[in-house]
Amino acid sequence: IQRRLNHTLNFDMKLPNGHNYVQPTGLFINNEFVKPLSKSKPSIPVYNPYNESLICDIYEGGADDVEKAIDAAEKAFQTWKLTTPEERSKLLYKLADLIEQNIDLLASIETLDNGKALSSAKGDVTLMANYFRYGASMCDKLHGTIFQNNKKDGFGYTVREPVGVCGLISSFNFPLMFVSWKLVPALVTGNTCVFKPSEHSCLSTLYFANLVKEAGFPPGVINFITGLGPVGATLTSSPKIKKISFTGSVGTAKKIMSSVGIKKVTLELGGKSPSIVTNKAKEDLDKVVDNICLGIFFNSGEVCCAGSRVYVQEDIYDELVEKLVKKTESLKVGDGFTDPYFGPLTNKMQLDKVKNYVDIATKEGAKLLTGGKQIGDKGYLFQPTIFGDCTNDMRVVKEEIFGPVLSLIKFKDVKEAIAMANDTEYGLAAGVFTSDLNEAIEISNQLNAGTVWVNTYNNFHPSLPFGGHSASGYGSEMSEEAFHCYTNVKAVKMNIKPIA
Ligand code: NAD
Repeated sequence: IQRRLNHTLNFDMKLPNGHNYVQPTGLFINNEFVKPLSKSKPSIPVYNPYNESLICDIYEGGADDVEKAIDAAEKAFQTWKLTTPEERSKLLYKLADLIEQNIDLLASIETLDNGKALSSAKGDVTLMANYFRYGASMCDKLHGTIFQNNKKDGFGYTVREPVGVCGLISSFNFPLMFVSWKLVPALVTGNTCVFKPSEHSCLSTLYFANLVKEAGFPPGVINFITGLGPVGATLTSSPKIKKISFTGSVGTAKKIMSSVGIKKVTLELGGKSPSIVTNKAKEDLDKVVDNICLGIFFNSGEVCCAGSRVYVQEDIYDELVEKLVKKTESLKVGDGFTDPYFGPLTNKMQLDKVKNYVDIATKEGAKLLTGGKQIGDKGYLFQPTIFGDCTNDMRVVKEEIFGPVLSLIKFKDVKEAIAMANDTEYGLAAGVFTSDLNEAIEISNQLNAGTVWVNTYNNFHPSLPFGGHSASGYGSEMSEEAFHCYTNVKAVKMNIKPIA
């Protein structure tokens, strides 16, 4: 009944943890929530992944709405590109403050819609605020270079200029955090944006749009268009869009690359990230176990850099397995609002995919050490799952599952482990666990990955870049590296007239 009656742009929400708020459901263009030009009813149902109940419906943008948003962003770009670093910095600081003031609500919306544990959602929102603050601090630090030839031949310098309107397309697993990963570098460098969140998790992003307006960003600088794949496709094929930043699957990335034409592109895609635990990690096995759990079970394993295959040296294999299974079986899995270690997977497709991989692994001869089953029959909760006795040719070791499923592989010598770790189409992240610094450096140097974590995992900081290579994509999120992905570099060569 609620669905049929709700054709407005707002929806009164009551969250399980007591928050009452108004959920916007429209498209955000020129700082206003609007209905699509050619659809009067919201048509994308949003379900609670914990119990499959309908939360609300949101509007689906069409190609005409995307055009409208791009036009708004193009118009805004004419003045936004001329703002001073101080003006942009002030707005970014203000937005960071507003994010922090709304951390409980933003995180609660994320938990409701995406399913993630509330503490994880709060972590995401904290990182989001931190990144806006980092961006604010960097607005006046976009440096070019100076080239001094010789006194007779003048000099040259480079400047970094904004590219124009950026099309930003994101996945469902860290909705708010990825809003910041894409908006911050775009805005710091003087671009305007049209952002398309995932249809599977966009309520928090729509609520965040309120804060964009409250912070005082001029209309058109940041626009959000909700919808399905075609919204993204309209962005990627538009000649008015000068830069695409995409986070999502390899399959969608291939479609994007066939239609994107000639424009700057950042691709943040999947992974099958390996960790290597050597005999020299023996004295700290409890900490290693904590990090392995964090690597694969954090966010239900719906993490692009999930540490989903772990290579363990033979002397410590049995002890590590015993500790790991014990710890895994103690993890609380449940409703995100009850603060579990992890909550449900985000949607039914994800659940079916995970179940399918458990079947595949079993048929391939991997040994199920724990887990392997859905929890309950409503909602998308799945047990933390570990397969032992895996070999590198198994699909469960090679393919991205995007769920709480870990594969363990025993190895004899470190060279062999590095070769197996690198035997992948991906190149996103990797972990190394050892108490020997030389060994850590040697292994890190040889791993093919955009990020290597040593004696830690899933550990991010705004000043360090994150991004992969090979089938994991290219370009960087965060740090100064990301700013370069959103600018064109111009070289200016000046000749000087010698004094007679
Ligand atoms: P997806 O590719 O299905 O969707 C991502 C986004 O692309 C969504 O907003 C979707 O609507 C949009 N889209 C769909 N078709 C499109 C088209 N033809 N043109 C343009 N846009 C289109 O991915 P997903 O299922 O949301 O996310 C899971 C994937 O994302 C996993 O493979 C995961 O590894 C990857 N991921 C990567 C990173 C990273 O930083 N490397 C981070 C998170 C997730």
